[in-house]
Amino acid sequence: MPHNNGMDWIRLPLRFAIYYRDEFDCVWCRQVFPLDPLGYGLTLDHVDPEKGNNVSNLVTCCKSCNSIKQNMTLKKWYEHLEAQGLNRRHVQDRIRKAIKKEINLDVGRWLAAIRRPSWREGIFGLLAEAGSA
Ligand SMILES: [Zn+2]
Repeated sequence: MPHNNGMDWIRLPLRFAIYYRDEFDCVWCRQVFPLDPLGYGLTLDHVDPEKGNNVSNLVTCCKSCNSIKQNMTLKKWYEHLEAQGLNRRHVQDRIRKAIKKEINLDVGRWLAAIRRPSWREGIFGLLAEAGSA
């Protein structure tokens, strides 16, 4: 399967399960992607760049926020958001709530299957697995 945008550091089903957990919105700026269920406008972001790849440190982030945030410290990033008129406490609440939700890997697997270049193979592969279970 071809990879792009450096997406292969995390398995696709987990990536999509996190997008799903966060309702396909950027947790930072709240940009909504109603026509983007496959997450083309989305990325994953490490809330605190100094912490690792645990799902509690990974959130859905639009490409625009991600490119600005990059390796900013969390403190600098919150200063940036406040300069944009966002309320730090509201953003922190949102993140706390988001990361408390469960990760649904089944949904992640379906979304990843559909997103494959050969989505038919992906879907029928999952159906076959489900049927043989
Ligand atoms: Zn954003």
